[in-house]
Parts: sequence; structure tokens; C-alpha cells
Amino acid sequence: MVAREIGKPVTVEHIEVEAPRHGEVSIRLAACGICHSDLSATNGTISYPLPLVLGHEGAGVVTAVGEGVTRYAVGDHVVSSFVSMCGRCHYCQTGRPQLCVQSLQALYTLPDGTVRTRDSTGMPLNVFCGCGVMAEFATVHGDNLVKIDKQMPLDRAALIGCGVMTGVGAAVNTARVEAGSVAVVFGCGGVGLNAIQGCAIAEARMIVAVDTGDLKLELARTFGATHTFNVSGEENVGKALYKLTGGGADYAFDCVGLGKIAEQAWGVLRRGGTAVIVGIANAADRITLNAQQVALSEKTLTGCYYGSARPSQDFPRLIGLYRGGRLKLDELITRTYSIEEAPQAFADLTQGREGRGVIIFDPA
Ligand SMILES: [Zn+2]
Ligand SMILES: [Zn+2]
Repeated sequence: MVAREIGKPVTVEHIEVEAPRHGEVSIRLAACGICHSDLSATNGTISYPLPLVLGHEGAGVVTAVGEGVTRYAVGDHVVSSFVSMCGRCHYCQTGRPQLCVQSLQALYTLPDGTVRTRDSTGMPLNVFCGCGVMAEFATVHGDNLVKIDKQMPLDRAALIGCGVMTGVGAAVNTARVEAGSVAVVFGCGGVGLNAIQGCAIAEARMIVAVDTGDLKLELARTFGATHTFNVSGEENVGKALYKLTGGGADYAFDCVGLGKIAEQAWGVLRRGGTAVIVGIANAADRITLNAQQVALSEKTLTGCYYGSARPSQDFPRLIGLYRGGRLKLDELITRTYSIEEAPQAFADLTQGREGRGVIIFDPA
């Protein structure tokens, strides 16, 4: 699945995937979720140099390992991590691998700055966040993978690689939602639904789902929303939510990625509350806050990248929660596509359809 031109439909192409070099691993993908960030790369919201093989929410089976790889063996099941984790930098060593320095060198290539992917004419193809796993095969760095239990179904496991980790992590890792608290989640797409279920797992007392679509809000209830609020046509969202929450929320999540929504998330907090920006806004977007109120209210505004994930610990933990019936993954997959149908998958995402679309690859 290749993005070639900003604003143009993605194309399904035959690509060449080279064998793994030192530290790298080749995988045959079983499934790959379609994330809003993939869409953002095709429409220019996040600027990546094209042509680009999309996909960063994949799961599959190791088919070959490069020199020096000891963590993985052929036949292992793995989930992609869209941040590369070197294990050695300041961030990796202080328990924040989601901020790893190496991941900045693997934004559209492998960490060494080169790619293993070429199109049919031999032209190199960049790869989304060092992954490019919306393809039958991929060669990625071992630092962009997490090994998982073979009993875990790969189509469910794939979702953990981005949307589930980001949303659940925003609640559980970033905000550290406390039991009995009140949370408001803006945006009920793939990440928002997971922020909702993260709040539910953390036993928040009241979880308000906010969106413009009734179908999405209905699905939000399945994931643990105790209240829903449709903002379409609502004049004063802040006032209405303040009333609904009985004096403001302890936590608010912007899962849309708009400065305006971040301001609403901030506004809906009670004093001392925490607003978490999860969605990735356009680079030109801004947030305006009342500086005096920032001090007086003791509110916290924090960013959240990848759900403050420590993938090698958190992926197995999320799989454990799924197995124990506490994490919903089956309900998240609202549509599946073949790789040939991927352009339709992007069209569906553009139209804002509810839940997560997943590409399922033919088994060998
Ligand atoms: Zn994603
Ligand atoms: Zn690192």
C-alpha cells in the first residue's frame, strides 16, 4: 500500500522487499490496522517524504532474521512498534522508550537511514515510521518489534501496535486515571474508543464520550462510556459538559488533534484536573489558554505520544487484559479488507466511519 502523491488515493503495488541486514527482521504480515496517521500521511496533515509504504499497526510471523539478531527467531509472532526503541538513549534508559532518540532517525526509513523496499522499477520506497507494514512482507529493525505469545490471534494483536496502545495508554500511563474519577473523551475514533476503555479499566466513575456522530457514540458505550454527548449543533459545549459532569472533569482527552478541541478539553476540567492531548494536530494549529487561569487552576496540560508506551512491557500486558476479558479488541474491528480493497478502507476512514478497519492478508 503506497502513498505516492499528497491528496491522491493510495495505490496497491507490487514491491520488492530485501532480506534483513544487521539487526533487522523480515516478517510476513497477517493483519494491519488502518490508522488515522496513515491517512494523515496521504493528505499532508503529517508531512512524510513520498513515495511511502504505509502501515504501522501490523502483526505477523518472522520469516528471516539478519546478522546479530538474538531476540527473534523464524516463526516468532511479532507486533510492530511505530517507535524504534534503541534501549540505550536517555529516554530508553529512564523508562520512556516512546521518546527514543533512534525513533527520530526512523521516521520514514529504517534507523540507519536506508530502506529495504523498492517499487517495480527499482525506485526506493520510504516506510511509515520505520514500519511500512501495510504490505504482505516487510523488513524492519528488531527495535521496531515486540514478540508476543503465539496463542494470541494476530488480527487482534495488530491493533495493539498503535490505536489500542495509544488510547488505553493515554488513560492508564499518561494520565494515570484514578478509580472513582470523572473523565471526558473528545473524539470516538479508534484512539478515542481506547481512551474510553482505558478509563474503564482504571475504574473511572463517569466517562463522557463526546463526538459528532451518533453511531460512534453508540459504540463508545460498548467500550465503557457511561454518558454520551453529541456536539453537533451545540452552542456552548463547555457549559453543557460542565453541567453534565457536575462541576468539571478530573481528566479530559483530546483524541481528535485540533487546537480548538484541546482548549475545550482544558475548559471542561475542574481545578487540579489533567488534560491530555493525544491526537496529532496540523503543524500550524495553536492552543490559546488564559495564562492567569493556568496558574490559579493548577490544571495540567500534557502531551501523550503513543500512550506513553513501553511496548515490550505494555503489549504483553494488554494481551493479558484481552485474554482476561477486560480489554475489548473484537468489538473494535468493525470492517476487514483485503489488500486490494485498501483504497476503499482509506475512503471509509476519510468519511469518518466508526471503529477500526483492518487489512487481513492471505495466509501463505
Ligand atoms: Zn497509528
Ligand atoms: Zn532509545
